[in-house]
Amino acid sequence: MTYERVLQLYERMQEELNREHYLLGAGLKEKPEYDRIFERYPELADMKTATAIIREKMDLHEDAPDEVVEAYDRVIFTILELYLSLKTLAESQKMEMYEMSAEVEAEGKRVPYRMVPLLIQKESKRDKRRLYYDATLPVVEKLTSMKLEIYRKALMVVRKDFGYPNLYEYHNARKMDDFSAYAGRMKDFLKETEEEYRPLAEEFFGEILGLRWGEVEPYDSSYLVSGSAFDVSLKLPDVDALRETLRRGGIDLDSMPNLRIDDEVRPKKSPRAFCVPIKIPDEVVVVVKPSGAFSDVSTLFHEMGHGLHFAFTDRNLSVPHRLMGRVGTSEIYSFNMQYVTDQPLWLDAFAVGWDDRFVKFRRFVYLYYRRRYAAKVIYEVELFKGDDWERVGPDLYERILTDATGVHHNRERYFLDIDWGFYSVDYSQAWEVEAALREFLKGEFGEDWFFKPEAYEYLKGLWSLGMKYAPLKLASKLWG
Ligand SMILES: [Zn+2]
Repeated sequence: MTYERVLQLYERMQEELNREHYLLGAGLKEKPEYDRIFERYPELADMKTATAIIREKMDLHEDAPDEVVEAYDRVIFTILELYLSLKTLAESQKMEMYEMSAEVEAEGKRVPYRMVPLLIQKESKRDKRRLYYDATLPVVEKLTSMKLEIYRKALMVVRKDFGYPNLYEYHNARKMDDFSAYAGRMKDFLKETEEEYRPLAEEFFGEILGLRWGEVEPYDSSYLVSGSAFDVSLKLPDVDALRETLRRGGIDLDSMPNLRIDDEVRPKKSPRAFCVPIKIPDEVVVVVKPSGAFSDVSTLFHEMGHGLHFAFTDRNLSVPHRLMGRVGTSEIYSFNMQYVTDQPLWLDAFAVGWDDRFVKFRRFVYLYYRRRYAAKVIYEVELFKGDDWERVGPDLYERILTDATGVHHNRERYFLDIDWGFYSVDYSQAWEVEAALREFLKGEFGEDWFFKPEAYEYLKGLWSLGMKYAPLKLASKLWG
């Protein structure tokens, strides 16, 4: 198996995996069959292939540019990730099936587990929210033990077959980063933003929930940050507001066959919007379940940010630069679109019922998420440097996340509230770069940059770079 052959096969496999993901999430298919796709590409999830590429990398000329060497590393780690996925596939599919079909009982009704967060978000009565939340705990417990089993198995493979002592070292190498140093930076970030965040949080905890710092439970915070307590609504359905925003910026979605919005109503469709780049840049879908709620519009813009990034990616980029980069790179652009919906000039055009207090509230929500994820970086680094997750995790999670946010982070969720591979680092780095990008766009094109074709021309230049640069590297290339 050669490097070039791996790239060819991977591009095909990725397309099949993404299509499966789309069909499942869009409610067009019920049972995941990722195993069948893996069966069609046995060479890709094979240690022999990884070894062959490592040899090829060693044969590279010593003057080979860093970019070429890094592309080899991306390919090697992609194979290792596929190998790990294959080793844990049966358990992952079992967990996904369970999560999709699990039901909870609340107020004598049976509700799909996946719908509960939406019910909590919209529920203004605290005792009802708590009831829903408590009803999920048996499912949470079962999912936690399933997830622990998957991670245990992954750790075994990482140690035995890859030679890394723990998941921290493995992901740190895979993402070519220094997570410990970054956790230090996140500690500074928490200190720097404390002065702005705490009074804002206390104000909204008090006014909306009637609670003090530390008294807010997860079921209160989901209701709070969703903005359900505000009577703000859109002048147009959310998909139309999105189309119109982009149209003013010179992007006509109707003339882009490679970027599609799937907003058909299907009962089994995921309640949360998502973007699947089935084939970059030729087939990108943003899947959304129309709800009419204002809180969903920022999620829709977020997912369209991913969609635009992938749809405008330069097709001539190599596979490692198009498909194998850091997920955080795309999150820069999704956050960038998402926060358009927080801007007074955008609200002025598309929303009614908003005021300065609402803008202030959205600032609180922004800081809440950034601080929650900064805390997750610190927590996950500490957790995955060791392997005594069940013993260390619950206390550590509760303490670090509660201190950072003022929201009591319930120990029961210490393991479910983790995404594979330190996604928290990618999110945090993307936020950091997005803040700089937004400042730049405002400075260059004005406060209403999101209605200006020139701004989108600039963004198209960035989107076209695909996943070539990791977030912090992109920032240093752009602004030194
Ligand atoms: Zn995203």
